[in-house]
Amino acid sequence: GATTPATTLTTQPTGFTATIAGVPVDTRHWIGGERLASTATFTDRSPIDGTPLAEIARGGAEEARAAVAAARAAFPGWAATPHRERARLLHAVADGIEARLEDLAAVETADNGALLRSHRRGVVPRAAHNLRFFADRLLALGHEDFATRGHTNHVTWDPAGPAALVTPWNAPLMLATWKIGPALAAGDPVVLKPAEWAPLTASLLADIAAEAGLPPGVLNVLQGYGDEAGAPLVSDAGVRRISFTGSVPTARRIARAAAANLVPTSFELGGRSPLLVFADADLDLAADLAVEQYDNAGQVCLAATRLLVEDSVREAFLERFTARARALVQGDPREEPTGVGPLIHPWHLERVDGFVRRALADGATALLGGGPHTELNARTGGTYYRPTLLTDVAQDSEIVQEEVFGPVLTLQSFSTEDEAVTLANDTRYGLAATLATGDRERAARVGARLVAGTVWINCFFVRDLAAPFGGSRESGTGREGGDWSFDFYCDLKNTVTAPKGWQRHG
Ligand code: NAD
Repeated sequence: GATTPATTLTTQPTGFTATIAGVPVDTRHWIGGERLASTATFTDRSPIDGTPLAEIARGGAEEARAAVAAARAAFPGWAATPHRERARLLHAVADGIEARLEDLAAVETADNGALLRSHRRGVVPRAAHNLRFFADRLLALGHEDFATRGHTNHVTWDPAGPAALVTPWNAPLMLATWKIGPALAAGDPVVLKPAEWAPLTASLLADIAAEAGLPPGVLNVLQGYGDEAGAPLVSDAGVRRISFTGSVPTARRIARAAAANLVPTSFELGGRSPLLVFADADLDLAADLAVEQYDNAGQVCLAATRLLVEDSVREAFLERFTARARALVQGDPREEPTGVGPLIHPWHLERVDGFVRRALADGATALLGGGPHTELNARTGGTYYRPTLLTDVAQDSEIVQEEVFGPVLTLQSFSTEDEAVTLANDTRYGLAATLATGDRERAARVGARLVAGTVWINCFFVRDLAAPFGGSRESGTGREGGDWSFDFYCDLKNTVTAPKGWQRHG
Protein backbone atom coordinates (compact mmCIF):
# COMPACT_ATOMS: atom_id res chain seq x y z
CA GLY A 1 0.00 0.00 0.00
CA ALA A 2 1.09 3.58 -0.59
CA THR A 3 1.03 4.59 3.04
CA THR A 4 3.70 6.98 4.20
CA PRO A 5 4.68 6.27 7.79
CA ALA A 6 4.83 9.07 10.28
CA THR A 7 8.60 9.02 10.27
CA THR A 8 10.64 12.03 11.22
CA LEU A 9 14.27 12.77 10.63
CA THR A 10 16.44 12.75 13.69
CA THR A 11 20.14 13.01 14.34
CA GLN A 12 19.90 10.67 17.32
CA PRO A 13 22.58 8.05 16.73
CA THR A 14 21.54 5.23 19.05
CA GLY A 15 20.73 1.78 17.74
CA PHE A 16 21.77 2.47 14.17
CA THR A 17 24.96 0.52 13.84
CA ALA A 18 24.92 -3.12 12.86
CA THR A 19 27.94 -5.36 12.82
CA ILE A 20 27.90 -7.73 9.88
CA ALA A 21 30.69 -10.26 9.48
CA GLY A 22 32.73 -8.08 11.84
CA VAL A 23 32.10 -4.96 9.75
CA PRO A 24 30.26 -2.04 11.37
CA VAL A 25 27.54 -0.65 9.12
CA ASP A 26 25.64 2.54 9.86
CA THR A 27 22.01 1.89 9.03
CA ARG A 28 20.86 5.51 8.88
CA HIS A 29 20.44 7.70 5.81
CA TRP A 30 23.39 9.70 4.53
CA ILE A 31 22.03 13.12 3.63
CA GLY A 32 24.00 16.29 3.07
CA GLY A 33 27.10 14.78 4.65
CA GLU A 34 25.26 13.77 7.81
CA ARG A 35 23.96 10.55 9.24
CA LEU A 36 20.24 11.01 9.83
CA ALA A 37 17.86 8.51 11.33
CA SER A 38 14.13 8.04 10.92
CA THR A 39 11.92 7.32 13.88
CA ALA A 40 10.75 4.14 12.15
CA THR A 41 12.93 1.23 11.05
CA PHE A 42 12.57 -2.01 9.13
CA THR A 43 14.41 -5.29 9.61
CA ASP A 44 16.91 -6.47 7.03
CA ARG A 45 17.51 -10.23 7.08
CA SER A 46 20.14 -12.49 5.57
CA PRO A 47 18.86 -14.93 2.95
CA ILE A 48 21.65 -17.34 3.96
CA ASP A 49 19.90 -18.33 7.18
CA GLY A 50 17.05 -15.87 7.73
CA THR A 51 18.76 -14.14 10.66
CA PRO A 52 18.08 -10.43 11.23
CA LEU A 53 21.11 -8.39 10.20
CA ALA A 54 20.13 -4.83 10.91
CA GLU A 55 17.40 -2.34 11.71
CA ILE A 56 17.42 0.10 8.80
CA ALA A 57 16.15 3.68 8.86
CA ARG A 58 12.75 3.64 7.20
CA GLY A 59 12.59 6.81 5.16
CA GLY A 60 9.44 8.51 3.93
CA ALA A 61 8.44 11.71 2.18
CA GLU A 62 10.28 13.97 4.61
CA GLU A 63 13.53 12.07 4.23
CA ALA A 64 13.21 12.05 0.44
CA ARG A 65 12.63 15.80 0.43
CA ALA A 66 15.67 16.36 2.65
CA ALA A 67 17.86 14.19 0.41
CA VAL A 68 16.83 16.02 -2.77
CA ALA A 69 17.29 19.37 -1.01
CA ALA A 70 20.83 18.33 -0.05
CA ALA A 71 21.57 17.30 -3.64
CA ARG A 72 20.17 20.59 -4.95
CA ALA A 73 22.26 22.56 -2.50
CA ALA A 74 25.38 20.69 -3.65
CA PHE A 75 24.59 21.06 -7.34
CA PRO A 76 26.12 24.48 -8.18
CA GLY A 77 29.40 23.59 -6.47
CA TRP A 78 29.64 20.12 -7.96
CA ALA A 79 28.67 21.29 -11.45
CA ALA A 80 31.38 23.97 -11.27
CA THR A 81 34.03 21.53 -10.01
CA PRO A 82 36.64 21.16 -12.77
CA HIS A 83 36.51 17.84 -14.63
CA ARG A 84 39.98 16.89 -13.38
CA GLU A 85 38.91 17.34 -9.78
CA ARG A 86 35.68 15.39 -10.25
CA ALA A 87 37.68 12.61 -11.87
CA ARG A 88 40.25 12.67 -9.08
CA LEU A 89 37.52 12.32 -6.44
CA LEU A 90 35.89 9.42 -8.31
CA HIS A 91 39.26 7.65 -8.44
CA ALA A 92 39.64 8.32 -4.71
CA VAL A 93 36.26 6.66 -4.06
CA ALA A 94 37.38 3.73 -6.25
CA ASP A 95 40.57 3.48 -4.16
CA GLY A 96 38.39 3.32 -1.06
CA ILE A 97 36.26 0.56 -2.58
CA GLU A 98 39.38 -1.46 -3.38
CA ALA A 99 40.81 -0.85 0.10
CA ARG A 100 37.59 -2.20 1.64
CA LEU A 101 37.12 -5.06 -0.82
CA GLU A 102 36.88 -7.73 1.89
CA ASP A 103 34.39 -5.73 3.97
CA LEU A 104 32.19 -4.94 1.00
CA ALA A 105 32.26 -8.53 -0.25
CA ALA A 106 31.40 -9.97 3.18
CA VAL A 107 28.58 -7.52 3.84
CA GLU A 108 27.09 -7.91 0.37
CA THR A 109 27.12 -11.70 0.64
CA ALA A 110 25.46 -11.63 4.07
CA ASP A 111 22.88 -9.18 2.77
CA ASN A 112 21.89 -10.57 -0.64
CA GLY A 113 23.23 -14.13 -0.58
CA ALA A 114 25.24 -13.98 -3.81
CA LEU A 115 28.54 -15.85 -3.80
CA LEU A 116 31.35 -14.38 -1.70
CA ARG A 117 33.92 -15.40 -4.28
CA SER A 118 32.01 -13.57 -7.03
CA HIS A 119 31.88 -10.45 -4.87
CA ARG A 120 35.60 -10.64 -4.17
CA ARG A 121 36.75 -11.41 -7.68
CA GLY A 122 34.09 -9.84 -9.82
CA VAL A 123 31.64 -7.45 -8.23
CA VAL A 124 33.77 -5.30 -5.93
CA PRO A 125 36.58 -4.77 -8.46
CA ARG A 126 33.91 -3.97 -11.05
CA ALA A 127 32.32 -1.44 -8.66
CA ALA A 128 35.64 0.39 -8.47
CA HIS A 129 36.03 0.12 -12.24
CA ASN A 130 32.57 1.65 -12.74
CA LEU A 131 33.86 4.83 -11.09
CA ARG A 132 37.30 4.83 -12.70
CA PHE A 133 35.91 4.22 -16.15
CA PHE A 134 33.53 7.19 -16.07
CA ALA A 135 36.13 9.43 -14.40
CA ASP A 136 38.52 8.77 -17.30
CA ARG A 137 35.74 9.02 -19.86
CA LEU A 138 34.81 12.46 -18.55
CA LEU A 139 38.32 13.69 -19.29
CA ALA A 140 38.12 12.32 -22.83
CA LEU A 141 34.61 13.64 -23.44
CA GLY A 142 34.34 15.75 -26.53
CA HIS A 143 32.94 16.01 -30.00
CA GLU A 144 34.41 17.44 -33.16
CA ASP A 145 32.92 20.81 -33.99
CA PHE A 146 30.41 20.96 -36.83
CA ALA A 147 30.73 23.74 -39.36
CA THR A 148 27.68 25.38 -40.96
CA ARG A 149 28.37 28.06 -43.58
CA GLY A 150 31.43 29.03 -41.64
CA HIS A 151 29.72 28.96 -38.24
CA THR A 152 31.23 26.69 -35.61
CA ASN A 153 28.89 24.39 -33.72
CA HIS A 154 30.56 23.35 -30.48
CA VAL A 155 28.97 20.62 -28.33
CA THR A 156 29.29 20.49 -24.53
CA TRP A 157 27.76 18.30 -21.85
CA ASP A 158 26.29 20.42 -19.06
CA PRO A 159 25.41 18.89 -15.68
CA ALA A 160 21.64 18.43 -15.52
CA GLY A 161 20.92 18.60 -11.78
CA PRO A 162 20.15 16.10 -9.00
CA ALA A 163 19.73 12.52 -10.17
CA ALA A 164 17.56 9.94 -8.39
CA LEU A 165 19.14 6.49 -8.62
CA VAL A 166 16.91 3.57 -7.67
CA THR A 167 18.44 0.10 -7.59
CA PRO A 168 17.39 -3.52 -6.99
CA TRP A 169 18.74 -6.12 -4.55
CA ASN A 170 20.28 -8.64 -6.91
CA ALA A 171 23.53 -6.72 -7.48
CA PRO A 172 23.38 -3.74 -5.12
CA LEU A 173 26.95 -2.45 -5.16
CA MET A 174 27.52 -3.19 -8.84
CA LEU A 175 24.36 -1.39 -9.93
CA ALA A 176 24.73 1.53 -7.50
CA THR A 177 28.21 2.30 -8.82
CA TRP A 178 27.11 1.73 -12.42
CA LYS A 179 24.80 4.72 -11.91
CA ILE A 180 26.83 6.80 -9.44
CA GLY A 181 29.95 6.72 -11.65
CA PRO A 182 28.49 8.43 -14.72
CA ALA A 183 26.08 10.67 -12.76
CA LEU A 184 28.81 12.13 -10.59
CA ALA A 185 31.23 12.36 -13.49
CA ALA A 186 28.56 14.25 -15.40
CA GLY A 187 28.28 16.77 -12.56
CA ASP A 188 24.93 15.61 -11.15
CA PRO A 189 24.69 15.11 -7.37
CA VAL A 190 22.81 11.92 -6.60
CA VAL A 191 20.28 10.43 -4.21
CA LEU A 192 20.68 6.67 -4.18
CA LYS A 193 17.69 4.66 -2.96
CA PRO A 194 18.97 1.10 -2.54
CA ALA A 195 16.61 -1.87 -2.39
CA GLU A 196 15.11 -2.63 1.00
CA TRP A 197 16.12 -6.30 0.80
CA ALA A 198 19.85 -5.51 0.45
CA PRO A 199 20.57 -1.95 1.59
CA LEU A 200 23.87 -2.36 3.45
CA THR A 201 26.70 -1.84 0.97
CA ALA A 202 25.09 1.46 -0.10
CA SER A 203 25.77 2.69 3.40
CA LEU A 204 29.39 1.53 3.27
CA LEU A 205 29.70 3.35 -0.05
CA ALA A 206 28.58 6.56 1.69
CA ASP A 207 31.34 6.10 4.30
CA ILE A 208 33.89 5.49 1.57
CA ALA A 209 32.79 8.55 -0.41
CA ALA A 210 33.00 10.73 2.68
CA GLU A 211 36.49 9.42 3.50
CA ALA A 212 37.54 10.10 -0.10
CA GLY A 213 36.56 13.74 0.35
CA LEU A 214 33.42 13.92 -1.77
CA PRO A 215 31.71 17.19 -0.74
CA PRO A 216 28.55 16.94 1.42
CA GLY A 217 25.34 16.47 -0.55
CA VAL A 218 27.04 15.15 -3.70
CA LEU A 219 26.22 11.55 -2.79
CA ASN A 220 23.16 10.93 -0.63
CA VAL A 221 21.77 7.58 0.43
CA LEU A 222 18.08 7.35 1.24
CA GLN A 223 16.99 4.13 2.93
CA GLY A 224 13.47 2.74 2.91
CA TYR A 225 10.76 0.89 1.06
CA GLY A 226 9.98 1.62 -2.57
CA ASP A 227 6.49 2.99 -2.04
CA GLU A 228 7.46 5.01 1.05
CA ALA A 229 10.89 6.44 0.19
CA GLY A 230 11.33 5.68 -3.53
CA ALA A 231 8.00 7.12 -4.68
CA PRO A 232 8.41 10.59 -3.10
CA LEU A 233 12.02 10.66 -4.31
CA VAL A 234 11.18 10.10 -7.97
CA SER A 235 8.26 12.53 -7.87
CA ASP A 236 10.26 15.36 -6.26
CA ALA A 237 10.33 18.34 -8.61
CA GLY A 238 13.97 18.97 -7.69
CA VAL A 239 15.08 15.76 -9.39
CA ARG A 240 16.33 16.26 -12.98
CA ARG A 241 17.20 12.67 -13.93
CA ILE A 242 15.90 9.28 -12.84
CA SER A 243 17.92 6.17 -13.45
CA PHE A 244 16.12 3.01 -12.38
CA THR A 245 17.02 -0.65 -12.47
CA GLY A 246 14.31 -3.03 -11.40
CA SER A 247 11.03 -4.55 -12.45
CA VAL A 248 8.60 -3.50 -15.16
CA PRO A 249 5.64 -2.66 -12.85
CA THR A 250 7.84 -0.32 -10.79
CA ALA A 251 9.17 1.27 -13.97
CA ARG A 252 5.62 2.10 -15.03
CA ARG A 253 4.99 3.83 -11.69
CA ILE A 254 8.24 5.77 -11.93
CA ALA A 255 7.50 6.74 -15.54
CA ARG A 256 4.20 8.27 -14.42
CA ALA A 257 5.97 10.28 -11.70
CA ALA A 258 8.63 11.38 -14.19
CA ALA A 259 5.97 12.43 -16.68
CA ALA A 260 4.51 14.89 -14.19
CA ASN A 261 7.82 16.77 -14.00
CA LEU A 262 9.02 15.95 -17.54
CA VAL A 263 12.15 14.31 -16.17
CA PRO A 264 14.23 12.07 -18.46
CA THR A 265 14.40 8.47 -17.29
CA SER A 266 16.70 5.55 -17.95
CA PHE A 267 15.17 2.15 -17.24
CA GLU A 268 17.08 -1.14 -17.05
CA LEU A 269 14.41 -3.76 -16.49
CA GLY A 270 13.78 -7.44 -16.61
CA GLY A 271 14.24 -10.05 -19.25
CA ARG A 272 13.55 -13.59 -20.35
CA SER A 273 16.56 -13.93 -22.57
CA PRO A 274 17.22 -16.89 -24.87
CA LEU A 275 20.30 -19.08 -25.28
CA LEU A 276 20.27 -20.51 -28.80
CA VAL A 277 22.25 -23.69 -29.29
CA PHE A 278 22.78 -24.64 -32.93
CA ALA A 279 23.83 -28.10 -34.05
CA ASP A 280 27.15 -26.71 -35.25
CA ALA A 281 28.02 -25.37 -31.77
CA ASP A 282 30.76 -26.60 -29.47
CA LEU A 283 28.34 -28.44 -27.17
CA ASP A 284 30.68 -28.37 -24.19
CA LEU A 285 30.85 -24.61 -24.47
CA ALA A 286 27.08 -24.43 -24.94
CA ALA A 287 26.55 -26.51 -21.79
CA ASP A 288 28.99 -24.31 -19.85
CA LEU A 289 27.09 -21.21 -20.97
CA ALA A 290 23.79 -22.82 -19.99
CA VAL A 291 24.80 -23.78 -16.43
CA GLU A 292 26.24 -20.30 -15.97
CA GLN A 293 22.61 -19.13 -16.03
CA TYR A 294 22.20 -20.55 -12.51
CA ASP A 295 24.69 -17.94 -11.22
CA ASN A 296 23.33 -15.83 -8.37
CA ALA A 297 20.54 -18.44 -8.19
CA GLY A 298 19.24 -17.07 -11.47
CA GLN A 299 18.60 -13.63 -9.99
CA VAL A 300 20.32 -11.93 -12.90
CA CYS A 301 18.45 -9.63 -15.26
CA LEU A 302 20.56 -10.76 -18.21
CA ALA A 303 20.23 -14.50 -17.52
CA ALA A 304 19.59 -16.55 -20.63
CA THR A 305 16.89 -18.63 -19.02
CA ARG A 306 15.24 -19.95 -22.18
CA LEU A 307 17.38 -22.69 -23.67
CA LEU A 308 16.52 -23.12 -27.35
CA VAL A 309 18.33 -26.14 -28.72
CA GLU A 310 18.39 -27.51 -32.26
CA ASP A 311 16.52 -30.86 -32.36
CA SER A 312 19.42 -32.91 -33.69
CA VAL A 313 21.68 -32.08 -30.72
CA ARG A 314 19.05 -31.95 -27.98
CA GLU A 315 20.08 -35.22 -26.33
CA ALA A 316 23.82 -34.60 -26.67
CA PHE A 317 23.42 -31.11 -25.22
CA LEU A 318 21.19 -32.32 -22.38
CA GLU A 319 23.66 -35.00 -21.37
CA ARG A 320 26.43 -32.41 -21.05
CA PHE A 321 24.20 -29.84 -19.37
CA THR A 322 22.71 -32.15 -16.74
CA ALA A 323 26.14 -33.55 -15.82
CA ARG A 324 27.35 -30.01 -15.11
CA ALA A 325 24.16 -28.89 -13.34
CA ARG A 326 24.19 -31.97 -11.08
CA ALA A 327 27.78 -31.17 -10.10
CA LEU A 328 26.81 -27.69 -8.86
CA VAL A 329 27.13 -27.39 -5.09
CA GLN A 330 24.21 -25.61 -3.49
CA GLY A 331 24.51 -24.01 -0.09
CA ASP A 332 26.22 -21.31 1.92
CA PRO A 333 27.47 -18.62 -0.49
CA ARG A 334 30.40 -17.87 1.81
CA GLU A 335 31.91 -21.28 1.12
CA GLU A 336 34.31 -21.55 -1.79
CA PRO A 337 32.86 -24.67 -3.52
CA THR A 338 29.30 -23.31 -3.50
CA GLY A 339 27.93 -22.60 -6.96
CA VAL A 340 24.31 -21.76 -6.15
CA GLY A 341 23.27 -19.78 -3.08
CA PRO A 342 19.86 -18.79 -1.72
CA LEU A 343 17.06 -16.69 -3.17
CA ILE A 344 16.81 -13.21 -1.67
CA HIS A 345 13.67 -13.55 0.47
CA PRO A 346 10.98 -16.08 1.48
CA TRP A 347 8.41 -14.06 -0.52
CA HIS A 348 10.60 -14.29 -3.57
CA LEU A 349 11.01 -18.05 -3.08
CA GLU A 350 7.21 -18.34 -2.96
CA ARG A 351 6.96 -16.31 -6.17
CA VAL A 352 9.55 -18.42 -8.01
CA ASP A 353 7.93 -21.62 -6.77
CA GLY A 354 4.51 -20.37 -7.87
CA PHE A 355 5.76 -20.08 -11.45
CA VAL A 356 7.18 -23.60 -11.32
CA ARG A 357 4.11 -25.16 -9.70
CA ARG A 358 1.79 -23.59 -12.26
CA ALA A 359 4.05 -24.75 -15.09
CA LEU A 360 4.08 -28.32 -13.74
CA ALA A 361 0.30 -28.26 -13.36
CA ASP A 362 0.16 -27.04 -16.94
CA GLY A 363 2.01 -30.11 -18.21
CA ALA A 364 5.68 -29.16 -17.91
CA THR A 365 8.24 -31.82 -17.00
CA ALA A 366 11.01 -31.10 -14.50
CA LEU A 367 14.21 -32.66 -15.86
CA LEU A 368 16.06 -31.17 -12.89
CA GLY A 369 14.90 -29.68 -9.58
CA GLY A 370 11.35 -28.37 -9.57
CA GLY A 371 11.02 -27.03 -6.03
CA PRO A 372 12.67 -25.47 -2.99
CA HIS A 373 15.59 -27.29 -1.36
CA THR A 374 13.43 -28.16 1.65
CA GLU A 375 16.08 -30.15 3.47
CA LEU A 376 18.67 -27.37 3.18
CA ASN A 377 16.11 -24.73 4.13
CA ALA A 378 15.01 -26.67 7.21
CA ARG A 379 18.63 -27.12 8.29
CA THR A 380 19.79 -23.54 7.65
CA GLY A 381 16.72 -21.30 7.81
CA GLY A 382 17.71 -20.02 4.35
CA THR A 383 15.73 -19.69 1.12
CA TYR A 384 17.34 -22.15 -1.30
CA TYR A 385 15.69 -23.28 -4.51
CA ARG A 386 16.87 -26.26 -6.50
CA PRO A 387 18.39 -25.50 -9.89
CA THR A 388 15.51 -26.39 -12.17
CA LEU A 389 15.13 -27.32 -15.81
CA LEU A 390 11.62 -27.52 -17.25
CA THR A 391 10.68 -28.95 -20.60
CA ASP A 392 7.35 -29.63 -22.37
CA VAL A 393 6.55 -25.94 -22.11
CA ALA A 394 4.42 -24.04 -24.61
CA GLN A 395 5.75 -20.84 -26.15
CA ASP A 396 2.73 -18.85 -24.99
CA SER A 397 2.79 -20.25 -21.43
CA GLU A 398 3.52 -18.12 -18.38
CA ILE A 399 6.77 -19.96 -17.61
CA VAL A 400 8.19 -19.07 -21.03
CA GLN A 401 6.79 -15.54 -21.22
CA GLU A 402 7.38 -14.17 -17.72
CA GLU A 403 10.59 -13.34 -15.88
CA VAL A 404 10.95 -15.86 -13.04
CA PHE A 405 14.17 -14.40 -11.56
CA GLY A 406 15.25 -17.68 -10.01
CA PRO A 407 17.31 -20.77 -10.94
CA VAL A 408 14.68 -21.92 -13.38
CA LEU A 409 15.50 -22.62 -17.02
CA THR A 410 13.17 -23.85 -19.72
CA LEU A 411 14.22 -26.10 -22.59
CA GLN A 412 12.61 -25.91 -26.02
CA SER A 413 13.84 -27.21 -29.32
CA PHE A 414 13.77 -25.95 -32.88
CA SER A 415 14.55 -27.41 -36.27
CA THR A 416 15.30 -24.38 -38.45
CA GLU A 417 17.10 -21.08 -38.02
CA ASP A 418 13.86 -19.22 -38.73
CA GLU A 419 12.08 -21.11 -36.01
CA ALA A 420 14.93 -20.38 -33.58
CA VAL A 421 14.71 -16.64 -34.29
CA THR A 422 10.92 -16.64 -33.97
CA LEU A 423 11.00 -18.39 -30.59
CA ALA A 424 13.88 -16.21 -29.37
CA ASN A 425 12.07 -12.97 -30.18
CA ASP A 426 8.64 -14.03 -29.01
CA THR A 427 8.40 -12.42 -25.55
CA ARG A 428 7.69 -8.87 -24.38
CA TYR A 429 11.34 -8.50 -23.43
CA GLY A 430 14.53 -7.69 -25.33
CA LEU A 431 17.41 -7.46 -22.90
CA ALA A 432 19.95 -9.96 -24.20
CA ALA A 433 20.42 -13.06 -26.33
CA THR A 434 23.21 -15.63 -26.38
CA LEU A 435 24.17 -17.78 -29.35
CA ALA A 436 26.24 -20.93 -29.39
CA THR A 437 27.27 -21.69 -32.94
CA GLY A 438 30.37 -22.72 -34.84
CA ASP A 439 29.33 -20.81 -37.95
CA ARG A 440 30.44 -17.20 -38.17
CA GLU A 441 27.97 -16.32 -40.90
CA ARG A 442 25.09 -17.84 -39.03
CA ALA A 443 26.07 -15.89 -35.92
CA ALA A 444 25.97 -12.63 -37.88
CA ARG A 445 22.73 -13.53 -39.65
CA VAL A 446 20.86 -14.63 -36.52
CA GLY A 447 22.36 -11.90 -34.33
CA ALA A 448 21.08 -9.24 -36.71
CA ARG A 449 17.53 -10.58 -36.44
CA LEU A 450 17.37 -10.78 -32.64
CA VAL A 451 15.63 -8.08 -30.60
CA ALA A 452 18.12 -7.55 -27.76
CA GLY A 453 20.25 -4.81 -26.26
CA THR A 454 23.19 -7.21 -26.05
CA VAL A 455 23.94 -10.27 -28.20
CA TRP A 456 26.62 -12.66 -27.01
CA ILE A 457 28.19 -15.10 -29.44
CA ASN A 458 29.85 -18.11 -27.81
CA CYS A 459 30.27 -16.12 -24.60
CA PHE A 460 28.19 -14.55 -21.86
CA PHE A 461 28.20 -11.54 -19.52
CA VAL A 462 31.48 -9.96 -20.64
CA ARG A 463 31.21 -6.46 -22.07
CA ASP A 464 33.09 -3.20 -22.30
CA LEU A 465 31.77 -0.25 -20.29
CA ALA A 466 32.27 1.96 -23.35
CA ALA A 467 29.57 -0.01 -25.18
CA PRO A 468 25.86 0.81 -24.88
CA PHE A 469 23.92 -1.24 -22.34
CA GLY A 470 20.18 -1.55 -21.96
CA GLY A 471 17.10 -3.35 -23.13
CA SER A 472 14.62 -3.18 -25.96
CA ARG A 473 10.84 -3.44 -25.62
CA GLU A 474 9.83 -4.02 -21.95
CA SER A 475 13.45 -4.63 -20.92
CA GLY A 476 14.07 -0.94 -20.74
CA THR A 477 14.31 2.48 -22.25
CA GLY A 478 17.51 4.22 -23.20
CA ARG A 479 21.08 3.01 -23.08
CA GLU A 480 23.82 3.70 -20.56
CA GLY A 481 27.54 3.06 -20.96
CA GLY A 482 30.34 5.11 -22.52
CA ASP A 483 29.27 8.50 -23.84
CA TRP A 484 25.65 7.35 -23.88
CA SER A 485 25.70 7.71 -20.07
CA PHE A 486 26.86 11.31 -20.38
CA ASP A 487 24.17 11.97 -22.97
CA PHE A 488 21.64 10.82 -20.39
CA TYR A 489 22.97 12.51 -17.25
CA CYS A 490 23.78 15.80 -19.01
CA ASP A 491 21.96 18.54 -20.81
CA LEU A 492 23.73 18.75 -24.13
CA LYS A 493 24.47 22.19 -25.37
CA ASN A 494 25.38 23.41 -28.85
CA THR A 495 27.18 26.74 -29.00
CA VAL A 496 27.19 28.32 -32.46
CA THR A 497 29.78 31.00 -33.15
CA ALA A 498 29.60 33.37 -36.11
CA PRO A 499 32.21 33.07 -38.88
CA LYS A 500 33.87 36.31 -37.96
CA GLY A 501 34.27 35.16 -34.40
CA TRP A 502 34.30 38.03 -31.98
CA GLN A 503 33.93 40.93 -34.40
CA ARG A 504 30.80 43.07 -34.42
CA HIS A 505 28.60 43.01 -37.52
CA GLY A 506 28.85 45.88 -40.01
P1 NAD B 1 11.63 -3.67 -7.93
O1 NAD B 1 11.13 -2.95 -9.11
O2 NAD B 1 10.67 -4.31 -7.03
O3 NAD B 1 12.49 -2.68 -7.01
C1 NAD B 1 13.62 -1.99 -7.48
C2 NAD B 1 13.81 -0.74 -6.66
O4 NAD B 1 12.71 0.14 -6.86
C3 NAD B 1 13.89 -0.96 -5.16
O5 NAD B 1 14.87 -0.09 -4.61
C4 NAD B 1 12.51 -0.54 -4.69
O6 NAD B 1 12.49 -0.12 -3.35
C5 NAD B 1 12.22 0.59 -5.62
N1 NAD B 1 10.81 0.95 -5.77
C6 NAD B 1 9.73 0.14 -5.67
N2 NAD B 1 8.60 0.83 -5.90
C7 NAD B 1 8.97 2.10 -6.17
C8 NAD B 1 8.25 3.29 -6.50
N3 NAD B 1 6.91 3.30 -6.60
N4 NAD B 1 8.94 4.41 -6.73
C9 NAD B 1 10.28 4.42 -6.65
N5 NAD B 1 11.02 3.34 -6.33
C10 NAD B 1 10.36 2.19 -6.09
O7 NAD B 1 12.68 -4.70 -8.47
P2 NAD B 1 13.50 -5.81 -7.64
O8 NAD B 1 12.59 -6.94 -7.33
O9 NAD B 1 14.24 -5.15 -6.53
O10 NAD B 1 14.59 -6.24 -8.71
C11 NAD B 1 14.41 -7.28 -9.61
C12 NAD B 1 14.15 -6.75 -10.99
O11 NAD B 1 15.24 -5.92 -11.42
C13 NAD B 1 14.05 -7.84 -12.03
O12 NAD B 1 12.98 -7.57 -12.90
C14 NAD B 1 15.38 -7.73 -12.78
O13 NAD B 1 15.37 -8.22 -14.08
C15 NAD B 1 15.62 -6.27 -12.75
N6 NAD B 1 17.03 -5.98 -13.02
C16 NAD B 1 17.37 -5.41 -14.23
C17 NAD B 1 18.70 -5.14 -14.53
C18 NAD B 1 19.10 -4.52 -15.84
O14 NAD B 1 20.20 -4.00 -15.92
N7 NAD B 1 18.28 -4.56 -16.87
C19 NAD B 1 19.69 -5.46 -13.60
C20 NAD B 1 19.31 -6.06 -12.40
C21 NAD B 1 17.98 -6.29 -12.12
